[in-house]
Amino acid sequence: MNISITKSTSSNLSKVDFDNLPFGRIFSDHMFVCDYADGSWQQPRIIPFQNFDMHPASMVLHYGQAIFEGMKASKSLDGRPMFFRPELHAERLNISARRICMPEFPEELFLDAIHQLVGLDSAWIPPKEGSALYIRPTMVATDEFIGVKPSSRYRFFIFTCPVGPYYSKPVRLWADTHYIRAAEGGTGFAKYAGNYGATLLPAQLAMEKGYDQIMWLDAKEFKYIQECGTMNIMFVIDGKVLTPPLYDTILDGVTRKSALEILRSEGYEVEEKRITIGEVVTAYENGTLQEAFGVGTAAVVSHASAIGYKDLVMELPPASEQKVGAFIKATIDGLRSGKVEDKWGWVVPVGQEAAVAV
Ligand SMILES: *Cc1c(COP(=O)(O)O)cnc(C)c1O
Repeated sequence: MNISITKSTSSNLSKVDFDNLPFGRIFSDHMFVCDYADGSWQQPRIIPFQNFDMHPASMVLHYGQAIFEGMKASKSLDGRPMFFRPELHAERLNISARRICMPEFPEELFLDAIHQLVGLDSAWIPPKEGSALYIRPTMVATDEFIGVKPSSRYRFFIFTCPVGPYYSKPVRLWADTHYIRAAEGGTGFAKYAGNYGATLLPAQLAMEKGYDQIMWLDAKEFKYIQECGTMNIMFVIDGKVLTPPLYDTILDGVTRKSALEILRSEGYEVEEKRITIGEVVTAYENGTLQEAFGVGTAAVVSHASAIGYKDLVMELPPASEQKVGAFIKATIDGLRSGKVEDKWGWVVPVGQEAAVAV
C-alpha cells in the first residue's frame, strides 16, 4: 500500500528548545493515520499533526479498546537517524491487537510508516546523546455504537515527540500485597491502555508512602515478582542476573530481551526464572542482593535505591555500585549513538525514500 503524504505548510520546529524538552509534551510536525473499515485497512496517509474529531459514542471512549507501542529513533554521533529493533514493535502491536480483539496492522506497513514519518520529521530528532524522538503508534476503536462488542472500525495512528536524555534518579520500589497489575488469563502481556489506568491509584498510594513505583507481585499468592512500574525488572543476586520469565502477566519488553542477549553474549551468568519476594528478602538479609533495576525504552535502565515490602525496607547499594545495570544502559545508549559496534544488527537506518506526494 502506498502512503500518501500531505506536508505541513509551516513547521513548529523553530519554537522548540532541544536543551529543555519536557517528556511527552512536544509533538513534531507530522503524523501517520490509517483507518480500518469494511474489513480492511484503508488509505494510509501522513498528514500535518492535528486533532481528531470524535463521535461521543466512539467505542474506545466507553469500552477501552486501545493499544499502543513506545519506541525511539535516535541520531548517531555523525547525524544519521536510526531505529532500534523496530520490527519487534510492529510484531508486539499485533500481539496486543489479538488479545484486545482488534485487527492486526500489517507489519510491513507499520515499518514503512515509521520510516517515512521519521524520515520526513528527522530534523525533530534531538542530536544530543541519550535524547531521541519518542514514537507512539496507537490503535483505537472508532465505531459509533453503544453496546459491548468488538468495534467494526478502528484508527491506527503514529505521532512522535522529541525527548531529552532521560536520567532517571534511582527509584524506591514498593512490593504491594493488595493491588495487582496482571492476573493469569488477563491482559498483562498486552500494551493495552486499560492496564495503565488500573495502576494509577495503587501507584499514588505507594507515593504517599514515600515510594516512586510499585514492584508488582502475582495476583494469586503475592509471592512472585512480575515487573516494576511500566518496566521489566532484573536483579543481581550473588553475581547472577535474574529476571522473571515471560508469561501472560508480563510484557515482553524489547529492552529486557536486548539486555538478556547482551549479557549472555558478554558472558554474564543470566537466568530467567520465577523469583519470589522471599528470595529477595533472603538475599538482602545475607548481603547478596547487589542490584535491582527496571528496564524499558524510556529510561533504558532505572536503578532501585530501595525495595519496601510489608514492614521491611531493603536499601540497595548506590547506583554507582550497580554495575550490571550501568553496563546495559551504556551498551544500549551506545548502540543508539553508534559508539558501540552493532554486532547484533539491531540498529536500522531511517529510510528516506521519497513517497507519493499528494
Ligand atoms: C512498555 C513496557 C515495558 C518495557 O518494554 P520496552 O519494549 O522495553 O519499552 C515493560 N513493562 C510494561 C508494563 C510496559 O508497558
